[in-house]
Amino acid sequence: MNIVVCAKQVVDVGEIKVNPSTNKPVLEGIPRKISDIDKNAMEEAIRIKEKLGGKITAMTVGPPDARERIKELLAMGADEGVLIEAPENADYHLVSRALARGIEKMGDVDIVLCGEASIDMFSGQVGPRIAGHLRIPQLTYAFRLEADEGKIRADRNMGDTMVISESTYPVVVTVTKEINEPRLPSLMQILGSANKPLNEWKMGDLGLEGEAPRVTEVDLSGVSMERKNVIFKDDLDEAVNELADRLAKEGVTG
Ligand SMILES: Cc1cc2nc3c(=O)[nH]c(=O)nc-3n(C[C@H](O)[C@H](O)[C@H](O)COP(=O)(O)OP(=O)(O)OC[C@H]3O[C@@H](n4cnc5c(N)ncnc54)[C@H](O)[C@@H]3O)c2cc1C
Repeated sequence: MNIVVCAKQVVDVGEIKVNPSTNKPVLEGIPRKISDIDKNAMEEAIRIKEKLGGKITAMTVGPPDARERIKELLAMGADEGVLIEAPENADYHLVSRALARGIEKMGDVDIVLCGEASIDMFSGQVGPRIAGHLRIPQLTYAFRLEADEGKIRADRNMGDTMVISESTYPVVVTVTKEINEPRLPSLMQILGSANKPLNEWKMGDLGLEGEAPRVTEVDLSGVSMERKNVIFKDDLDEAVNELADRLAKEGVTG
C-alpha cells in the first residue's frame, strides 16, 4: 500500500489569547503542532501498513518551520516526509491543489488519509477537494476502517444512523478523532526520524508557480463571552432545584 497522510501544522488553539483592547487573537509566540485529527490519520496509516505492508508519506503544505512537525510524523512511523512550501495566505483551493499535485508527483498512491477537519480553521474542505482534483473516490468521516488488498471499508457515523461504505483504490479517506488513539513515539523512534528522507518542494516544482489564493480572510477576531456569575450557595437540595429551574429558563434543558 502506498499511503499519503496529509497533515497540517496549526497553532495550538488552546494557547490562543484574545487581546481585550483589539479583540484580535494573539498568534505570535504560540507553539505550533500537528492538527490533532491528522495524528489519528497517521495512526490509521501505520495500522494499515502493519496489516498490508507498504510505505507511508507524510505531506504538509506550510511554512519552512513545518519541517519540525513532519519530523514528529516520521518519528510516529511515516517512512518519508514532504513539505510543500506555500504562501501563508494560501486558501483551501490552493492548499488542496498543491497536495493533489504532490500526490500525483509521487505516483501510484493507493490511499490518501486526511483528518475530517483541521483544529484551527475547521473547514473540512481539503480532503474532499483533493479527491476532486485527483478525480478519485472519497470516504468521509470514517470512525472505523478496514483495509484489504482490493478495497477499503469505512464505518461512518451519521448521527442517528451509521453508514458502511466500501471503495476500491485509489481513494481519499477522511477520519474522525474517535477512530483510534495515536501512538507516542519512543526515544529511539524520535532519534531515528532524523535519518528518514524529508523532501521539500516549492509550488513551482508542482506547476503552481505564481498561483495566488482566490479566497481572502477579511478579518479574524475573538468572540467575547460574558458570564452571568450566578452562584447557588444555600441548601444543596434547594440549590440543585434552583439550578435546574434556571437552566430550563435559559433554554439549556427542556
Ligand atoms: C495565517 C493564515 C492566513 C490565512 N489566510 C487565508 C486566506 O487569505 N484565504 C483563505 O481562504 N484561507 C486562509 N487561511 C486558511 C487556510 O488556507 C486554511 O487553513 C487551509 O486552506 C486549510 O483549510 P482548513 O484548515 O479548514 O482545513 P480542513 O479542510 O478543515 O482540513 C482537513 C484535513 O485536510 C488536511 N489539510 C488541511 N490543510 C493542510 C495543509 N496545509 N497541509 C497538509 N494537509 C492539510 C489535513 O488532513 C486536515 O485534517 C489562512 C490561514 C492562516 C493560518
